[in-house]
Amino acid sequence: MELGHHAGVNNQVKDTPPPHAVARLRAACMEHSPTRPRLDRGEPRKERCGGCRLPASHCACALSASVPTRAGLCLLMSEFEPLKPSNTGWLVADVVPQTHAFTWSRTAVDPALLALLADPQWQPLVVFPGEFARPERVIDELPQVDPAAPRRPLFVLLDGTWSEARKAFRKSPYLEALPVLSLHPEQLSRYKLRRSWHEHHFCTAEVAALCLALAGELRAAHVLEAWLDVFSDRYLKARQSVPPDPDDELHRRLAALRGVTAAPRSPPCR
Ligand SMILES: [Zn+2]
Repeated sequence: MELGHHAGVNNQVKDTPPPHAVARLRAACMEHSPTRPRLDRGEPRKERCGGCRLPASHCACALSASVPTRAGLCLLMSEFEPLKPSNTGWLVADVVPQTHAFTWSRTAVDPALLALLADPQWQPLVVFPGEFARPERVIDELPQVDPAAPRRPLFVLLDGTWSEARKAFRKSPYLEALPVLSLHPEQLSRYKLRRSWHEHHFCTAEVAALCLALAGELRAAHVLEAWLDVFSDRYLKARQSVPPDPDDELHRRLAALRGVTAAPRSPPCR
């Protein structure tokens, strides 16, 4: 059975625009890939919320928040990544309205992606481990801003499995002229949903939060980290059929950050 059908994410009213870039990509992926693989193997077959992709019993839509930023994020997602209920690029788009998302393909490139990368308001940076790039491309902090032509940082993140991300990095000529931002965070990944990640590589939402912090967007970074924590907690509890605890430390931290820094995102769960 197809993921979208049994997952109940196709029940949104037609003509209502999906809420963000990754949701739009997901909708397009479901429309254009009728033979898509099952991506939720091992998951309990529960009705999933179209807003947060968690089972209805663990829906977190009422807790999400959006934080406007000067910096932008550009997610290049492998073909079926937007369909995975554990994908964390979705969480980035939840929090950061300036999130763009495109499907990566070796043989074709979306003209809108090329236009975004060429837009003079943005300074695009590919976020990738420096050891895989020519040394002269690698930077570990943001370039100096030219006061005469200040550009907003646009962090390009490759969202997929580690091998998919490496392939996209190697086989995308339009990325070759861009600086490679190599992150060296001290902490190890807290992300426990997907085990295929290389131990030194972070999930997409963690990378995005680190980038936002580097750009001085601390509010957005903290809200995104807290949102990831709450999402991950509820995702795991749903798998274990354990009810969520809205008063635990993770939820209180997110609520405090939302109260201070962010407005609730609407619309809530449909
Ligand atoms: Zn929800």
